[in-house]
Amino acid sequence: MAEKNLVLKGVPVSPGIAIGSAFLLHRDELQVEEEEIAGEQVASEVEKFKRAIQQTKEELFGIRRRVARNLGEEQGRIFDVQLLMLDDVMTIDQTITAIQERRRNAEFIFWENLQKAISTIESSDQVFFRERASDIRDLGRRVLHNLLGIKQLTVAGIQSEVVVVSQDLSPTDTAQMHRRNILGFATDMGARTSHAAIMARSLEIPGVVGLKDATLQVKHGETIILDGTKGTMVVAPDKRVLEHYRGEQQKYLQWSSSMAALKDLPAKTLDGYSIQLAANIEFPDEADSALDHGATGIGLYRTEFLYLSRADLPTEEEQYEAYSAIAERMLPDAVTIRTFDLGGDKFSMYLKGQPEANPFLGRRAIRVCLDCPDIFKVQLAAILRASANGNLKILFPMISGVEQLRQAKEIVSQVQEELKARGFSYDAKIPVGVMIEVPSAVMVADSLAREADFFSIGTNDLIQYTLAVDRGNEQVAELFDPFHPGVLKLIQQVVQAGHRASIPVAICGELCAEPLAAMLLLGLGLDEFSMSSISIPQIKKVIRSVTMDEARAVAAHVLEMETSQQIKTYLMEQSRRLYPDFLPVDVV
Ligand code: PEP
Ligand code: MG
Repeated sequence: MAEKNLVLKGVPVSPGIAIGSAFLLHRDELQVEEEEIAGEQVASEVEKFKRAIQQTKEELFGIRRRVARNLGEEQGRIFDVQLLMLDDVMTIDQTITAIQERRRNAEFIFWENLQKAISTIESSDQVFFRERASDIRDLGRRVLHNLLGIKQLTVAGIQSEVVVVSQDLSPTDTAQMHRRNILGFATDMGARTSHAAIMARSLEIPGVVGLKDATLQVKHGETIILDGTKGTMVVAPDKRVLEHYRGEQQKYLQWSSSMAALKDLPAKTLDGYSIQLAANIEFPDEADSALDHGATGIGLYRTEFLYLSRADLPTEEEQYEAYSAIAERMLPDAVTIRTFDLGGDKFSMYLKGQPEANPFLGRRAIRVCLDCPDIFKVQLAAILRASANGNLKILFPMISGVEQLRQAKEIVSQVQEELKARGFSYDAKIPVGVMIEVPSAVMVADSLAREADFFSIGTNDLIQYTLAVDRGNEQVAELFDPFHPGVLKLIQQVVQAGHRASIPVAICGELCAEPLAAMLLLGLGLDEFSMSSISIPQIKKVIRSVTMDEARAVAAHVLEMETSQQIKTYLMEQSRRLYPDFLPVDVV
C-alpha cells in the first residue's frame, strides 16, 4: 500500500472531483522474449505477424465505427492515423525481412522496431510529434497482444465505477470512455493540447495529466481522489482526507448545479448591459454542450481539428456538412468559423512542411492559408455555402498587418464569384473578422478596423507573442502572465480601435474564462466573451453581479497599476466585495 495521503501534483485539464478505486491501465508491460527460430518456421512466423496486423486492423475499424456512431465522424477519424501507421508498408516489410534474415520470433522483431520508432518520435523537438508517441505505443501494444494471443484490458471493458490511471491515454482510450463508468482519469504524461485532454473536457470527466509517476505510486483497486480543478491526486486517503474531499465534491456539485441554473438567464449586468457569452469548440458536436451551458453562439470554432489526425484533406463537401450542421444547430445565434490555424503545435499530415526551429513564429495560421490558396479556397467555399443555412461569420487567425487581411478578403471575393458561377447561394454580407493575437495587429488596429467587420482577441497567443513566452513551455509557465499591465493595455487599445470604427470586439482566449478577469474585461468594453462551454456559467454569474459603472471604474483603476501582483490582489478584493458568495471552491 502507498503511504497514506500521498499527494501528487499534475496539470489540471478537466474540472471536478473524482473519488473511487484506481483502474490501472497498461501497467503490465508485455514480456517479449527473444527466440531463435528454425528455417522451416520462418514462413509460419511471417504468417502469424500478417494475421496479427490484419486482426489489429479489423479491431481498429470496429472502434472507429463505434466512436463515429457515438461521438461523431471527427472523433472517429482520430483512428485513421493509427490505421495509416498500420498500413505503413515499410515497417511491415522491415519486420518481415528481419524475421526472415535474423531468424527471430515475430513479436521480438516487432517489439524492437516499435521501441526504435517510439524513441525517435519522443526525442523530436516538436510537441506535436512527441504527442503522437501515444498513438504508436497504443498501436504497438495492440499488435503485440494479437501476436501473443492475449486479451487486452481496455477502458471499453470497464464494468464498475473507477478512476482510470495510466501512463498516457491514447485517443483510442478516451474515445471509448463513458461517463457512466469512468469517474475521472489521471496520466503520468500528457499535455493540454493532446486529443485525450480535449476529449475529456468535452466529455466533462475530471482529468489531471502530467502526474509523472502516478502509475508507480498507485495500485490497482486502491482508493484515490482526483481533483481536476486544482490538478492534484491523493493516493490512499485516510478517513479525514476522504471526508474533506467528499465535502469539496459536494460543494463542487452544488456549485455546478447552481451554475447550471443560470443557463437561461441573460448575461446582463445589474444596470442592464448585455454581453454575448459564446462557446469555443473544436468539433461540431460540441454544440449541444455549448447550448446546455447557456452559450448564445459559437465565438470560435477551431476548424483545424478537421485537418488533424488524417492523411488527406477534408473535402469541400465534408466541410460544408460540418459547418452547416453547426450553423443550423445554433440558429438563430451566430457561429464564428475560424479558418484553419495549422502550424505552431497543430500539424496536418498532408500539409507537413520542412521542420522549423520556431514553429510558433513560422508557417502558421493565415500564413499557411495565403501560401496554399487552393486549400484555403476549399475551406472558404464550404463556409460560404454553409452560410446559406445559418448565421455564420469568418475569422482569420494570426493576422499581423493590413496587407494580409486584404489578401485574405480578396480570396473570399474570388471564391464568392466562383460559387456564383457554380450556382450556389451564400450570405453575400457574411461578416469577416480578424483575430488580434500578434502585437503588430494591435498597433495597426485602427487600419484593420476600417476593413474588418469585427475583432476577436486571442489572448493565448497575444500573451505569448507580447511577453515572448512560449505558451506550451512549462519551464517559463510562471512568466505567462495574463495580468501583465502590458497585455491589459494592448487589450484596451484593441477595444478602443474597434469601437472608434463601430465594430464589435470579442475575446476568445483562455483569459476570458478566468473569473478574476471577468469584471476587468467587462469594464474594458468587450462586447463578446467566448470560452470553453463549462466556464460560461461562472462568467455569467460575475456579469450578473456587477454594474457597468463598477466594472469601468475597476478597469480604469487597474490600468493605472504597475505590476500584475497589484492587479490580481486588487481584483480579488473587488470580487470578494461585489460577490462574496461566489466561488465556493477554488475554480480560478
Ligand atoms: C488564442 O490564441 O487566444 C486563441 C483563442 O486561439 P488558439 O488558442 O486556438 O491559438
Ligand atoms: Mg491563437
